[in-house]
Amino acid sequence: MFEVVIGLEVHAQLNTKTKIFCNCPTSFGDEPNTNVCEVCLGLPGALPVLNKETVKKSIAFGTAINAKVNKKSIFNRKNYFYPDLPKGYQISQFEIPIVEGGEIIIDFEDGTSKRIGVTRAHLEEDAGKNIHHGSVSHVDLNRAGTPLLEIVSEPDMRSSEEAVLYLKKLHAILRYLDISDANMQEGSFRCDANVSIRPKGDTKLYTRAEIKNLNSFKFIQKAIDYEVARQSAAWEDGVYERDVVQETRLYDTEKNETRSMRGKEDSAEYRYFPDPDLLPVIVPDDMMEECRKIPELPDQKRDRLVKEYGIKEYDATVITSSVEMAHFYETMIAEGAGAKNSTTWLTVELTARLTHGLSLLSSPVDAVKLASLVKRIEDGTISGKAAKEVLDYVMENAISIDETIEKLGLKQVSDDGAILEIIDAIIAANTDKVAEYKAGKEKLFGFFVGQTMKESKGTANPAMVNDLLKQRLDN
Ligand code: ADP
Ligand code: MG
Ligand code: ZN
Repeated sequence: MFEVVIGLEVHAQLNTKTKIFCNCPTSFGDEPNTNVCEVCLGLPGALPVLNKETVKKSIAFGTAINAKVNKKSIFNRKNYFYPDLPKGYQISQFEIPIVEGGEIIIDFEDGTSKRIGVTRAHLEEDAGKNIHHGSVSHVDLNRAGTPLLEIVSEPDMRSSEEAVLYLKKLHAILRYLDISDANMQEGSFRCDANVSIRPKGDTKLYTRAEIKNLNSFKFIQKAIDYEVARQSAAWEDGVYERDVVQETRLYDTEKNETRSMRGKEDSAEYRYFPDPDLLPVIVPDDMMEECRKIPELPDQKRDRLVKEYGIKEYDATVITSSVEMAHFYETMIAEGAGAKNSTTWLTVELTARLTHGLSLLSSPVDAVKLASLVKRIEDGTISGKAAKEVLDYVMENAISIDETIEKLGLKQVSDDGAILEIIDAIIAANTDKVAEYKAGKEKLFGFFVGQTMKESKGTANPAMVNDLLKQRLDN
């Protein structure tokens, strides 16, 4: 009877070499306060200069989500005090952001999809970090001034599942465009979830709570579910007005609950005004045109894989869900491995073996090696079963596929003579069963196949075993 309404704000750190308004490096994990200068420290008289790369990456993003990219946008000062914000204001875009009105399509497992509106995406600078040690707090300003693209969605999502699908698609788009590392653990992809409920059928928006501190897809889903339950319970208990207020809440991953952190300002409170130190951003036509040339995106790649290789839509969605997997797959195809087998060996067999923090990028078996394994199945050198053993082995040992096949003695026997030799021995040792088979007990054929495979230690080519057994037994 309640409908859930979710709008998401994502802060994606753009992967530029230097900060948005100065030349300090954006590298991660350096000694505190070493990547700083008068601009990002907010010293009086220091002047910001816009990093052109941040504009280029924003244009690519706007293009990817079918948005309007504004030729002219402006930077504002958003005024508030925080120890990690030395200027006393954050430079951000307000009235005219660089990107306005786009969309992200999310795909459900049943094959249907839904459009989620993107209100805007604007450029801004990040703040520093407060580090608390007991009763003492330190401020590290290395992060102050790193470029962020804040991507604000419409309140179009109706469940925590939809929110996660949206975030995963957005994440993939940023990675395909290579404009952000979008690493949740390192904080280069941060999400705030705005959550409200309303009686089903109602169209107005009710009071939202904004949840911060969400650093994994799993926690985002749990935090939203918790918040929906909290608001629904308040409604049913008649304390909605009292308990559901516009505020910022923090998600506690250990207790699995959200807690009030502070009241939420309306934007008027920030006293936004155009930053007098920065000119409006005007994108020249040639730069706009150049930046609108973007690589193939997940949805297009998925459709192309289905069409070009005849693989299933679902498999194509899995393969294209991350740029790393898509590249891995396309490398396998380029190496000459078949599309269907590449799908299975990548999405099922290799994926299952990527445990203990291994990823496709750190996998001991790269795309070329996995392709050569698939090719050995396809040219009949080894059986699919033997290939699993080979894969297990090369995950642990730095050795080539062919050497492994040799070493483990898994080469498939496709030589008539060798197989016939085994078959004849089995026939000779089981004359009773041969007689039963010839008398009509056809089920026994499986027994002979099994014996032959066993005797060959699984290396006999199964199709040939079948043919040769038929020849021997049916005559
Ligand atoms: P702020 O910075 O104050 O949080 P923004 O406009 O940047 O404001 O973001 C507001 C976000 O909250 C948007 O994603 C929007 O879709 C979402 N939102 C607004 N109202 C509601 C609501 N009633 N329920 C759920 N989400 C909402
Ligand atoms: Mg917000
Ligand atoms: Zn600096």
